[in-house]
Amino acid sequence: MVVQKEPWSRGAWVEIDLGAIRRNTRTFKNLLDPRERLCCVVKADAYGHGALECARIMYSAGADMFAVATVSEGIELRQGGVKLPILILSEPPETAIDALLEYELMPSVYTSEFALALGERAVEAGCVARYHMAIETGMNRIGVHHTEVIDFRRSIDFHRGIACDGVFTHFATADDPDGWDYKLQRRRFEEAVAAMHEAGFDCGIVHCDNTPAMILDPASHYDMVRAGIGLYGLDACERTSRAVQLDPAMSVRARVSRTTDPAMGEGVGYGYTYRVPRARVQICTLPLGYADGVSRTLSNRMDVLFRGMRLRQVGNICMDQLMVEIQETSRSVMPEAEIGDLMTIIGRDGDAEISLDEHARLRGTINYEVACGFGMRLERIYR
Ligand SMILES: *Cc1c(COP(=O)(O)O)cnc(C)c1O
Repeated sequence: MVVQKEPWSRGAWVEIDLGAIRRNTRTFKNLLDPRERLCCVVKADAYGHGALECARIMYSAGADMFAVATVSEGIELRQGGVKLPILILSEPPETAIDALLEYELMPSVYTSEFALALGERAVEAGCVARYHMAIETGMNRIGVHHTEVIDFRRSIDFHRGIACDGVFTHFATADDPDGWDYKLQRRRFEEAVAAMHEAGFDCGIVHCDNTPAMILDPASHYDMVRAGIGLYGLDACERTSRAVQLDPAMSVRARVSRTTDPAMGEGVGYGYTYRVPRARVQICTLPLGYADGVSRTLSNRMDVLFRGMRLRQVGNICMDQLMVEIQETSRSVMPEAEIGDLMTIIGRDGDAEISLDEHARLRGTINYEVACGFGMRLERIYR
């Protein structure tokens, strides 16, 4: 692995392999028919990978639209030069309307109050605001209830300041497309869209798939899919991992900032949850902690890679630092580490690898949350 440049401010960083993101984007484009569009979801700073850098590489690999969660995430993309349509995945507060118009961001819409306020401001500004209508089909999170789509469209469609650019829903159980719950949501969506077409309402781009639905149920692509997690090379679930080969883009590395050889019985870290069990144990400090995405729940339970071998993390993980232990084991005599030595928290080192999924399993969460966590504070390098 060639590290071109490390962040100067701290000996811990995230590495993003933009080549992997380009390959994953192409892989997804190849799963689609030429007329089906790919909306790349880059919310939460591209799941911790850096929204602008990822959006640029996804654009070059064939992205047709971007989706974000918040208005400020959309503004960041526009200010960075992104020209493709940008969809906000929920309905923002009315106070955000001026920014939506100024930066040409399409909100999701599901209340007539918001839609009409958007239309009024658009007319004043001399433009037409495009929006996507969210349909509630069973996730019970956002959207116009699937039985009320006609009434909703009647209550807003007269307004000349707004135009429907798309309609969409979101699946609660896309990891199980053979299940009854998924099929019910899909049928409700299909019927709502058909009813709007029949009543003469323009639906624009029809879309419902996240990564697992796109991979596991090709018949549900409609006009566009909204892919997030898979673009970063992470598996949405067990079944998608068997269906497509993706390249993880994120690694997390750090350089040893301090070493010490405490005597047997000495404690390490807050609360002494670990005590040095024997003679000749080296304790190495790494300059990253739970404020950087290494959850404190992993204390004394996670490993770190050093020269292709696994080291145990010991003591409670601190906000900004954590400690690892080097012991002589029966299998191999571990080398001593020196200040400045490279250790891998996430990623490959020789034949060894620690994945975001490993952290997710240990923490009782999903790789999505682990990836976002590493986006909180660590600086990133791109290669
Ligand atoms: C986050 C999100 C997605 C992307 O989901 P992945 O599982 O990461 O592919 C798609 N649609 C909506 C509405 C979302 O909130």
